[in-house]
Amino acid sequence: MRLSPSAALLAFLPVAAQAEVPAVVADTPVVHSLVGEVMGDLGTPELLVSGGADPHDYQLRPSQARALANAGAIFWVGPEMTPWLNDVVATSGAGDKVVLLDLPGTHLRDFGAGDEPDEGRDSHAWLDPGNARIWLGAIAETLATRDPDNATAYRANAEAATQALDRLDADLKARLAGVAGGIVVAHDAYGYFADHYGLTVVASLAGGDAAQPGAAHLSEVAALVRDGGATCVFPETGHDPKPAVALAGETGIKVGEALDPEGLGMAPGQGLYAALMTALAEKIAACAG
Ligand SMILES: [Zn+2]
Repeated sequence: MRLSPSAALLAFLPVAAQAEVPAVVADTPVVHSLVGEVMGDLGTPELLVSGGADPHDYQLRPSQARALANAGAIFWVGPEMTPWLNDVVATSGAGDKVVLLDLPGTHLRDFGAGDEPDEGRDSHAWLDPGNARIWLGAIAETLATRDPDNATAYRANAEAATQALDRLDADLKARLAGVAGGIVVAHDAYGYFADHYGLTVVASLAGGDAAQPGAAHLSEVAALVRDGGATCVFPETGHDPKPAVALAGETGIKVGEALDPEGLGMAPGQGLYAALMTALAEKIAACAG
């Protein structure tokens, strides 16, 4: 085949003239949102867990396994969140593999020493906006090192996202300031959010990340509520609402709108993190405020 003159010229352009934005993979909608903010107009990360799937228990598609094997950078919360991803990341040829929970300065909390004292660190750390702040900066530095031609853009995007995050945090603090009563939640995901905004989580319907609470645990929760510890119970996206409704029927507390702390029911994209945090604050304030 003969190349046209212009195609022949293009074929000899030096590779270095084309800035290479790395292929980036993010594990969950939240991480995809934060990485997307840092990449801005330069590119969009590939999202592994979407469409309402439970990130704690997920099966990779073959195309996703290939994307992971060939990625320039992988950003993920950590093995506590997505244990199924641990071996895949370990054997991947990706240039950078960043466990967000391991980043210096990240505020980590352990799951409460209740039913499951051995569960270790609580992986839902994005619900503390201080952690999202640290991660934005670290994501920018990782991408800036891997793709120096665009370092200025990654850092500027992270700085703009951090400033927006600070405004959001102040707004959410104001919205949640009037919440005095305790809340009951569907799974043990809200410790960081409660610590940061001064909320009291009286109990989780499912201990740890178990899908369904047992009858004995439900009557324990009902006893806690009857002791006057909670005003509102929240179902959750991806969880059966029946235990929450049953608890409310048994104890007389209100049922709030379903919370979505992992963004599973939300449209993926740069704005997901802010939308997720805003929705949590609004729904909690509407029921328990
Ligand atoms: Zn969870």
